[in-house]
Amino acid sequence: MNLSEKLVSACGKPIENCTNRELYEALLTMVQQEACARTAETGKKKVYYISAEFLIGKLLSNNLINLGWYDEIREILAAAGKDIGQIEEVEPEPSLGNGGLGRLAACFLDSMASLGLNGDGIGLNYHLGLFRQEFEEELQKAVPNPWIEEKTWLLKRETTYPVSFGGFTVQSRLYDIAVTGYKNRTNMLHLFDLDTVDEGLVKDGIDFDKENIAKNLTLFLYPDDSDEEGRKLRIYQQYFMVSSGAQYILDECERKGSTLHDLPDYAVIQINDTHPSMVIPELIRLLTGRGIAFDEAVEIVKKTCAYTNHTILAEALEKWPISYLKEVVPQLVPIIEILDDRIRRKYQDEAVAIIDKNDVVHMAHMDIHYGFSVNGVAYLHTEILKNSELNAFYQLYPEKFNNKTNGITFRRWLLHCNHPLADLITDRIGNQYKKDAALLELMTACSDEETLKQLLEIKHQNKLALKAYLKETQNVDIDENSIYDIQIKRLHEYKRQQMNALYVIHKYLEIKRGKKPARPITVIFGAKAAPAYVIAKDIIHLILCLQKLVNEDPKVSPWLKVVMIENYNVTKAEKLIPACDISEQISLASKEASGTGNMKFMLNGAVTLGTMDGANVEIAELVGKDNIYIFGESSETVIDHYAKADYVSREYYEKDADIKEAVDFIIGKEMMKIGHKENLERLYKELLNKDWFMTLLDYRSYAEAREKAYADYEDRMSWAKKMLVNISKAGFFSSDRTIAEYNRDIWKLGK
Ligand SMILES: *Cc1c(COP(=O)(O)O)cnc(C)c1O
Repeated sequence: MNLSEKLVSACGKPIENCTNRELYEALLTMVQQEACARTAETGKKKVYYISAEFLIGKLLSNNLINLGWYDEIREILAAAGKDIGQIEEVEPEPSLGNGGLGRLAACFLDSMASLGLNGDGIGLNYHLGLFRQEFEEELQKAVPNPWIEEKTWLLKRETTYPVSFGGFTVQSRLYDIAVTGYKNRTNMLHLFDLDTVDEGLVKDGIDFDKENIAKNLTLFLYPDDSDEEGRKLRIYQQYFMVSSGAQYILDECERKGSTLHDLPDYAVIQINDTHPSMVIPELIRLLTGRGIAFDEAVEIVKKTCAYTNHTILAEALEKWPISYLKEVVPQLVPIIEILDDRIRRKYQDEAVAIIDKNDVVHMAHMDIHYGFSVNGVAYLHTEILKNSELNAFYQLYPEKFNNKTNGITFRRWLLHCNHPLADLITDRIGNQYKKDAALLELMTACSDEETLKQLLEIKHQNKLALKAYLKETQNVDIDENSIYDIQIKRLHEYKRQQMNALYVIHKYLEIKRGKKPARPITVIFGAKAAPAYVIAKDIIHLILCLQKLVNEDPKVSPWLKVVMIENYNVTKAEKLIPACDISEQISLASKEASGTGNMKFMLNGAVTLGTMDGANVEIAELVGKDNIYIFGESSETVIDHYAKADYVSREYYEKDADIKEAVDFIIGKEMMKIGHKENLERLYKELLNKDWFMTLLDYRSYAEAREKAYADYEDRMSWAKKMLVNISKAGFFSSDRTIAEYNRDIWKLGK
């Protein structure tokens, strides 16, 4: 059967007579069958990428592209009067991740399959995912996001495992999602779940009874961990994931002929941040249960596990009081105590202990001592790990440390989200770049006037499409001839959305006073805040108040608009990024480990306005200083300020009239009319008295760099050249390159 016949047969009636939902479900079935037919057990060794998050996004179009079916299916549908874009809208987005870390795991799965590597993901099947964000009275409201429909990408398996906690045992069940490679093999994402989970437990918003583990375990992705119950639930989730995953791995390797003594020849386990760290003691426990002596089990695990560090923010490096572990996973505690004891005998340095003197277990320390590789996720980040954050460990094990600069899959972040640009590139340099992203560099030679004009035209069309989408979804009007200046990422003080907002206030006041910009500006934000992160929610409140104030001011709104995207997620990112002119990557230097949003924007022809932080450093090096707007203090200076504790935000407020005016505006009468006194005052005081992430330190140079970018934008042809350079240098940030490096240096799988 050809594709057209297959589709008609899957629908059970002519395509013309199907609804978009019927077509979506028929296509899902077809894709699933074809994907499963492309699985292959090749080679002895497999990588298991274990992660609490996989922010996979919608799957239909991406799978169609990877199977090589997309164009044909689109034409078949079009011939029957159906629009593939409309069919995509039917699919719910699984929200199995928070942000960058989960999205990275999803890009990595795509690249492993696309490179033909034998590699599976292991994670959890959260029924309600991360919360869905709504706005009410200029505040974030969190509601559940049920994403599992009757017809779903999840394949329910017969495989179950017992998982024991202190006092009771539950049974985990395996679900699989097929991960298609681009014109290559299919791998699997294994998501564990519990048959007894009860969605009826959820009360108002996202509140639920945290006591009943058998009913709530996989309800939500990391529920609120601001209280002790929430933190313990997180440990329950983590252990459930690693115990199920470890049993799966050992069974699979034994089935393939491993004696378990030779486990490292069959398995390499990549631990994505510290959430899966308990896999180390759990594997030791399971191996000894299967007849291996303790000492040998430790050696086997050391050769099997590798750890990726994603952050240097102290509060994100997980530490659990041993009393929590004694309650939740008592069987692991004696193992962790032995692991700690061995380290304490060998090294007297308290800084490298696993269990510290306050009886708190440092998960990352366990990973570093008992894994064979430790990697950071961008050049600067890895240097900071080696030279400061993890220096005590680097002294002990220099050979374990390595860098793997993050990447993104070009299938989703170019071929899928920006067809016109992908077509233009194909027209100029051929198809090969789709398999080998380094070839994008060939675009450097295409700086003729015709290509540059087409780049501008494609951007314009994408901006029109975003304008229509925002009108339809949020009922806001934006001007396609304005500059689209976009900051979309999780809300965190270190990412400094508040600095962007201060600039918006400054512009608003300038325009009010009669100083109009050369061209209208549209400032777009998108961000969810963790429900327990008070200041982050206050920053959302500030942005929503500004949106109302600015957009409803008839004198200002023709020149300045503010849009806060509701429920920012992968689907929204795919619509926003192709339409972006200026990509805001303004974290405090040293705080953003890598960032991957920065890479997506660059690939789609946006120019970065950013600090020398994370992978921005590598972007700047690749594109050169004329094709990026860099501002702000260096990571060395920032680290020095923290060491000396000599940063005083009030000094910047007092000596810079623009800063003072913008900060005071937060609690001025216009804002108070729209917003809540409590939120705005708290934010004002935070900026003035603490400003832990040094917003005011960089504000002046930020505003200057932003003005420079806006001025340069007016020379359209010279701007188009900057776009071209950004696109042509983006090849390095393909996750295919990142994964090839993981394989070369860490996993060492054959094909
Ligand atoms: C890429 C991506 C992120 C990460 O963005 P950063 O700017 O690197 O923090 C977060 N959320 C979504 C939905 C993404 O697609």
